[in-house]
Amino acid sequence: MTTANTHPLIDRFNRHINYLRISVTDRCDFRCVYCMDEKMQFLPREQILTLEEIEQIARAFVLLGVKKIRITGGEPLVRRNILSLFERLGALPGLKELVLTTNGSQLSQMAKPLRESGVKRINISLDSLQADKFLKLTRNGKLDKVLAGIDAAREAGFERIKLNAVILKHRNHEEVPDLVDFAIQKQLDLTFIEEMPLGLINSHDRAEAYYSSDDILADLKTQYQMLPTPENTGGPARYYRLPAHPDTRIGFISPHSHDFCDTCNRVRLTAEGRLLLCLGQENSVDLRRIVRAHPGDAEYLQNSLLKAIHNKPHSHDFSHEKPVEIMRYMNTTGG
Ligand code: SAM
Ligand code: SF4
Repeated sequence: MTTANTHPLIDRFNRHINYLRISVTDRCDFRCVYCMDEKMQFLPREQILTLEEIEQIARAFVLLGVKKIRITGGEPLVRRNILSLFERLGALPGLKELVLTTNGSQLSQMAKPLRESGVKRINISLDSLQADKFLKLTRNGKLDKVLAGIDAAREAGFERIKLNAVILKHRNHEEVPDLVDFAIQKQLDLTFIEEMPLGLINSHDRAEAYYSSDDILADLKTQYQMLPTPENTGGPARYYRLPAHPDTRIGFISPHSHDFCDTCNRVRLTAEGRLLLCLGQENSVDLRRIVRAHPGDAEYLQNSLLKAIHNKPHSHDFSHEKPVEIMRYMNTTGG
């Protein structure tokens, strides 16, 4: 069997893959307008990887040199027994960072046990600070529950908490400065995300709602001194520092305006066990079939991962000018 780090995962373009994002469920208690359609069909339970299968795949990746795992979804914290997965992954030797992306709705109860199971950093999505707008954007999210969750996370003592906001023109772009003020007040990082064309949605026209990172930066520069910094957190965001507010960094994830493919270091495992080699391409490998056909065969699994990484595509091809080409929604992909 392969021992830790003897076969680093390197693709054809010499990119080192050391970051795995795992979607543990496609289900969610929210229905954000950019992520899901109003009426969604979720996967039947037997098509979803079990927690044991997820652990087996994560372990194989860590043995091949993956240092960072992000648990995401759907809403990861609505999956039953999810804390047991965090505990098991938190104990994997060789894994440096176990992190989480959540909508925050369950954090009031779960922040403390998550921290205790080894989660160091968390990202919490927050697109608006106005309850009615928040409700419109999430279709059924309760802002006060999420704000209470953010406070619970601060009390639980994570090393870093980052807010994520997807910005849409005329839906929440006017709130950009308020979101920054909130992040400063709570001493949190904040990343603005450009909407990606994943899945067919009917709530808005994505081209019309596009509000670029450059537009946001220009808005912020009228109020704040923004200094670019080369710091990164191992993901696609570019960061700025606010010299007057050292506890807050402002990040931008800009798949349209500043593509990040050349330095891509990550792959994704979907809730049904597809290993997606690129967020914006359909190339994938069915790891569920592999772990179910070869139960307990760690070597076979690792060799399959090595082969898969070799075929990682060079880049995504997101565009507002073309019809949506990627039919899978962000909740199955694992954002
Ligand atoms: N439910 C959790 C949450 O909302 O944080 C985790 C899963 S969610 C799919 C992960 C991130 O993807 C969130 O920050 C969300 O705002 C973002 N996201 C969802 N759909 C997106 C899209 N079409 N374009 C860009 N970001 C998107
Ligand atoms: Fe749920 Fe997160 Fe998608 Fe919103 S972005 S619908 S919270 S999975």
